[in-house]
Amino acid sequence: MIILKLGGSVITRKEADKPTINHENLKRITREVAESTHQKLIVVHGAGSFGHPLAKKYAIGDEIQDNLDLKKKMLGFSLTQHAVKELNGIVSEYLRMHGTLSVSIQPSSFILTKNKRIKSADLTLIKRYLELGFVPVIYGDVVLDADESIEMAVLSGDQIVKYLAEKLKPERVILATDVDGIYDKNPKKYPDAQLIETVSSLEQIETGEETNIDVTGGMGGKVSELLGLLDLEIESEIINANKTGNIKKALNGEKVTGTTIKR
Ligand code: ADP
Repeated sequence: MIILKLGGSVITRKEADKPTINHENLKRITREVAESTHQKLIVVHGAGSFGHPLAKKYAIGDEIQDNLDLKKKMLGFSLTQHAVKELNGIVSEYLRMHGTLSVSIQPSSFILTKNKRIKSADLTLIKRYLELGFVPVIYGDVVLDADESIEMAVLSGDQIVKYLAEKLKPERVILATDVDGIYDKNPKKYPDAQLIETVSSLEQIETGEETNIDVTGGMGGKVSELLGLLDLEIESEIINANKTGNIKKALNGEKVTGTTIKR
């Protein structure tokens, strides 16, 4: 089994302040998925511009001040849940159009976090879908949180990847994003950034020096989720989905430029 994460930066226009799909990428990538020869596959996708602007505006996951604030956050929750569900519908449909038997799985309907980390999720149905040959498509969402001071949390696609990998023990975990992998510093900011081919500890990239990883960027969170999988002997790869052919090659087990998270 393979878990493939499609970053929000790849399938949406992440810088847009309103939900905007990157149709060109989505079309190409879902075709590559259909053309690859994988066996069992779970697709996890990020929220990009469908989730982040709303979740931020309504400060989902921040401490609740009073009843009025709770009601506001609940409105934000409802709006965000709707937006990311719409994105999920589009991703699932694109996959299906190209011949993948996709099935949508909504995190907010069965996952509970505590302090923003997944506390419970019943995977029975996901396992059954996989056995039958479906491709479950799950995504970054807003979910209920057991901590009463926040009640709601933003659950990233990256955390879902880690949870599913822990529970389902896939052979491979592939994260597709909009850069080649993990660099010694943010490649979008620093043209001289160097790609790191193998990452095995946070120290390697988080020394606190200015020249090292920008943890405020999207990469820091990703890396710590993936490093957590090393305890279970699960390695993972970060690759660039903006490069044509990479997803297909990676799914087929061919070598692709990127970063491997391994010991
Ligand atoms: P996705 O939406 O694909 O999950 P993110 O946008 O959250 O991905 O994270 C990818 C982004 O992280 C890259 O576009 C890059 O700008 C940023 N980033 C910050 N620091 C680094 C780094 N050291 N190496 C690679 N990317 C980095």
